[in-house]
Amino acid sequence: MLFLLFIALILNLDYPLTYISGISVQRATLLYSELGLKTCNDLINFFPFRYIDKTSFYTIKDLQANTSEVQVVGKITQVNTVAQKRGSRLVAKFQDTSGTMELVWFKGQKWIKDALIIGVPYVVYGKLNHYNGSYSIPHPEMELVSEYKKKLQTKMQPIYHSTEKLTNSGVSNKLIRSYIQKLLQQFYEGITESLSDEIINNFKLMKKRDALLNVHFPKSQENLAKAQNRLKFEELFFLQLQLVRKKLINKTKIKGFVFKDVGSIFNEFYSDKLPFNLTNAQKRVLKEIRKDVASGAHMNRLLQGDVGSGKTIVALLTTLLALDNGFQATIMAPTEILANQHYTAISELVDGLNINVDILTGSVKTKKRKEIHENLENGFLHILIGTHALLEDKVKFKNLGIAIIDEQHRFGVKQRAKLWAKNKLPPHILVMTATPIPRTLAMSVYGDLDISVIDELPPGRKEIKTVHRFDSNRLSVFKFMKDEIAKGRQVYVVYPLIQESEAMDYKDLMDGYESISREFTAPNYQISIVHGQMKPVDKDYEMQRFVNGETQIMVATTVIEVGVNVPNASVMVIESSERFGLSQLHQLRGRVGRGADQSYCILLSSFKLSEEGKTRLKTMVDTTDGFKIAEVDLKLRGPGNLMGTQQSGILNLKIADVAKDSKILVAARNTAIEILQDDPNLEKHYNLPIKNTFAKISRNSKIWSNIS
Ligand code: ADP
Ligand code: MG
Repeated sequence: MLFLLFIALILNLDYPLTYISGISVQRATLLYSELGLKTCNDLINFFPFRYIDKTSFYTIKDLQANTSEVQVVGKITQVNTVAQKRGSRLVAKFQDTSGTMELVWFKGQKWIKDALIIGVPYVVYGKLNHYNGSYSIPHPEMELVSEYKKKLQTKMQPIYHSTEKLTNSGVSNKLIRSYIQKLLQQFYEGITESLSDEIINNFKLMKKRDALLNVHFPKSQENLAKAQNRLKFEELFFLQLQLVRKKLINKTKIKGFVFKDVGSIFNEFYSDKLPFNLTNAQKRVLKEIRKDVASGAHMNRLLQGDVGSGKTIVALLTTLLALDNGFQATIMAPTEILANQHYTAISELVDGLNINVDILTGSVKTKKRKEIHENLENGFLHILIGTHALLEDKVKFKNLGIAIIDEQHRFGVKQRAKLWAKNKLPPHILVMTATPIPRTLAMSVYGDLDISVIDELPPGRKEIKTVHRFDSNRLSVFKFMKDEIAKGRQVYVVYPLIQESEAMDYKDLMDGYESISREFTAPNYQISIVHGQMKPVDKDYEMQRFVNGETQIMVATTVIEVGVNVPNASVMVIESSERFGLSQLHQLRGRVGRGADQSYCILLSSFKLSEEGKTRLKTMVDTTDGFKIAEVDLKLRGPGNLMGTQQSGILNLKIADVAKDSKILVAARNTAIEILQDDPNLEKHYNLPIKNTFAKISRNSKIWSNIS
């Protein structure tokens, strides 16, 4: 007795699984390799992914073909052995006051037949099969109602994820359940609270130990919901605490260049050269940036703005702040075409201001390249625009003050770090993206960055009209294209390009090109074509012909997706649009509507559409708001798929779901911010539970190194 007490006291949840009786070293090794479970604590935090709800009963009349497991009370009226192709099956007619169904056995028939009692009430439970309008349960769990009533019911049964290996080596769901039950019995009192009293009271959260108990062995749906809510809050809270803390540390610990003055360059440009009034959103974002770069801390800001929202001018004004304070600036774009566009636009804008701008891309010749290198190091160049070529070691700035990265999703973390390393102090970083990320997702994936949003389009834009047409209407689409071209407009026709079936896609593209060529003949019509299998020079040549207005139609794969600006193009026809993702469709549509003309987007598809495909196309027809589209995308695809593998680590949550639990997420983040503002190092006594948990999480987690 004394001995047992002693064991209970010194055991704690950090002990390896082998401390649970019944878990051998081999079994523990298997649990680790299959499920990543190492300690008792891991196991107690291994949550069921679903529950068998034995709290409710069905009547046979109410059974639905899509119900998975059901519990029914009724009587057996008759038992038969039915011959089938191989062997036989045992079939019992089972009846309640509302109807009849069958119970079926393939194995152990003799034994079962003897055991079944006709005419007495049973509680029957199992997986429901539906065949030819009648229902059956194969190999049901059965119990006489008289017995059932005597027993204490476990009611909702937890079901845990498992693997074939585990099942084969005898680790059943029941066994896992029993291990966890043991742990909870033994440790319940010892489970310490991880949140402060204040948080628990504020949000009326369940206590930690009760949440753990109820997530594994809920007494009711209501208790389960409360337990899940508490655990989701906790998970998201500590995630946010990490991110917000990292952000605070960046702000206070990492020194940045100070752009003290708004000087003559900025002011002259603003009053004399700015071709339009900034939108309120642009002004707000510029203020946010100005505050950052004047603060003495290092800026690491993400600027989100839908296509056409006017990010370029914000970027330029930001570089002028650097110039006013004696620093150089650089703007990096993902493709040569885009870098060229920035270069042209910015050169024009600053014309007459005595600012030296140049462009560095892969195709710049050696002689010119040398000249750029020199002018960069001696400080003659003020703004250097370019592609990846900017990252080469030979590219050395005299005093780089800020790096602006356009279309962020094409650049990896490593490349950002490389820019970072080009200086004694890290230059300020402004990352611009036209791919709207839902707010909740941004909070998690970029929770350590500052985020600015341009949520307003420049005035006078006409909303792009979007329609969905089936392939059979292609002729009328051609007619529409002709009408628009007659008005002097240009048209994109885009084909999908999906890696796995590249050859087929290529054929689709070429077939499409041919049919368009037949319909739109020279000399009245000129057609450009751009696809992935062309050499970059040829691509650029074709692209340039379209940009210059020499061709009226651009037939292309998705290479045109990012950033190309041809204001005269007003029609976007997307072939097989059901095969594109939402964000891709949105990006493609953003290629039109850049000029003063009414623009159109035509989504062509076959008749065969999946439910998801229908939702995507309907969303595109219903809205042009990139953030709304991103929200739908998040719901359809889930956070992991949306962000790609790069950030999936951080989204690898145990119980919370960034898409579904957005309310909890926002509350958790705000709470994290409040707490760190009040107590940055978690030193106050009332935050002790948080501090202890936080320390443990920080020690154990590796995902944080993935965020940059
Ligand atoms: P994006 O955010 O997609 O990079 P751009 O910076 O290319 O958008 O801007 C799209 C177009 O809108 C450009 O032609 C630009 O000159 C114009 N523009 C930007 N801001 C304004 C504004 N405040 N008023 C009017 N036009 C603007
Ligand atoms: Mg842009």
